[in-house]
Amino acid sequence: MVRYSSNEARTAPWDSDQSPGTRSGARRGITVLDIAAALDRIAEIVGERGRVAPDAAQAMLHDQRGLYSGAAAAFVQPASTAECAAILRICNDSGIGVVPQAGNTGYCGGATPFDGERQIVLSLARMNRIRQIDPVGFTMTVEAGVILAEAQAAAAAEDLLFPLSMGSEGSCRIGGNLSTNAGGLNVVRYGTARELVLGLEVVLANGDVLTELKGLRKDNTGYDLKSLFLGAEGTLGVITAAVLKLFPAPKSRQTAWLAVTSPAAACALLGAARRQTGDQVVSAEYMSRMSLELVLAHVPGVRNPLAVPHGHYVLLELAGSLEEEALREMLERLLASGLADGTIVDGVLAESTAQRDALWKLRETIPEAERREGQCVKHDISIPLASIPAFLDAARQRLGKVVDHRLSVFGHLGDGNLHYNLIPIEGAEFDAQLAKQLSATLYDYVDEIGGSFSAEHGIGIFRRDDLQRYKSPVALDLMRRIKTTLDPNGIMNPGKVLAPFDLSEDR
Ligand SMILES: Cc1cc2nc3c(=O)[nH]c(=O)nc-3n(C[C@H](O)[C@H](O)[C@H](O)COP(=O)(O)OP(=O)(O)OC[C@H]3O[C@@H](n4cnc5c(N)ncnc54)[C@H](O)[C@@H]3O)c2cc1C
Repeated sequence: MVRYSSNEARTAPWDSDQSPGTRSGARRGITVLDIAAALDRIAEIVGERGRVAPDAAQAMLHDQRGLYSGAAAAFVQPASTAECAAILRICNDSGIGVVPQAGNTGYCGGATPFDGERQIVLSLARMNRIRQIDPVGFTMTVEAGVILAEAQAAAAAEDLLFPLSMGSEGSCRIGGNLSTNAGGLNVVRYGTARELVLGLEVVLANGDVLTELKGLRKDNTGYDLKSLFLGAEGTLGVITAAVLKLFPAPKSRQTAWLAVTSPAAACALLGAARRQTGDQVVSAEYMSRMSLELVLAHVPGVRNPLAVPHGHYVLLELAGSLEEEALREMLERLLASGLADGTIVDGVLAESTAQRDALWKLRETIPEAERREGQCVKHDISIPLASIPAFLDAARQRLGKVVDHRLSVFGHLGDGNLHYNLIPIEGAEFDAQLAKQLSATLYDYVDEIGGSFSAEHGIGIFRRDDLQRYKSPVALDLMRRIKTTLDPNGIMNPGKVLAPFDLSEDR
């Protein structure tokens, strides 16, 4: 194991005296072992193969958006649930914070460590076995370090589908997906990560292992404990394995790129598509003209599939067990009725896998294109679907009063999830203070109309203050009490999701 502290500036947004609950743990009379001795014992547990190479360790100190740079006392890669449990037991006894890390593709700094003396990074990368695929029960039992694309491929090899899908699927890992309750491209049909889980194995902060891997679809035996860990972002325990739901692999797939007259038309199209096709819609992605223009300007090898620009686009995909021709006819009928009633103004249907990939590339490279354009103020909000058209009008007006800006709006229309991103007008500098003001104005409005300031990316450290502002006091109190019960010494991903709090004062 390499002990490793970054020389880089620590950007943890709290002062070091307040950092992990470990100090309050010490105050409450826990025997604090010598940290160095504890780290040596952890090194013995993971052995030579649990060593993280210095380059890899360096990468683990930075989040993927480049917002945070941290520090850690050590980096470990356990190979088994038993090793994980032994590590957590030592950390709990010694007041060492544990930052679980899977693919490190999260958008909220949740996997970044912030204490070079009292936090370790626990990487799940070596726990990457697919334990079992049950084609009769339509389930798959996987370890937390399995890369999402590998889980999908393993299911496909059995003519089954694991439907969770997103741009980061080549790097993100199941443990991270479940801990962020990831969304992605197929939620409208299959739900978020939470809805794809039948069972979990979790190492608790004290090293106990909760094993709920029966994979039963019905099991009404008290509280649904697994739900606590889904979306907890590593603050309650380490997920080591999961039983995931599988589905029949679709036999046919049809994809269309459609220009629509307005956001209201986009919502109407989605409703019509679901009704007219017997709910064969697997993806319905919205893109504003600005988002497409950024892609066309910055991403090599893409082209506009339509002859003239339009204000709003929908990438619609149907998939199911119908023959290809029947599904195609469904999509053509939908297109014809949309053109007739004026919802759709133009569109193309993919004729091949290559054409489908080209259409998806336009959608999936929007974040990359935004990055190349420069800094922007990103938001991941969800809004009741019916309110989206009015929201877009009103939000533009409210934010326009703060400062003039360009708007790149895209997202998972089927889930009411918009990535509502503000880009400075050409020639203007990005202003961090102004960015905060814009986000606050937007979130206040989202809250007013019953939406959420964090749809699928989670809280981590990035949205921690927003959680305090928009979550109800009752919900926050309950979250804290759950945290206190499951992790009384505050070792699990310290400072993430909930603001640091002193347990001794809380009681
Ligand atoms: C190009 C791109 C596209 C993306 N598209 C989407 C999208 O469409 N939808 C979406 O929801 N997200 C998307 N994301 C964000 C990101 O990929 C997801 O949040 C993903 O689920 C994170 O998985 P990860 O393995 O990288 O987790 P990490 O970043 O390593 O960790 C995320 C959080 O989970 C915790 N954690 C990790 N593993 C465990 C574990 N085993 N037990 C307990 N806690 C753990 C970490 O401590 C951290 O708080 C995208 C990211 C990129 C870069």
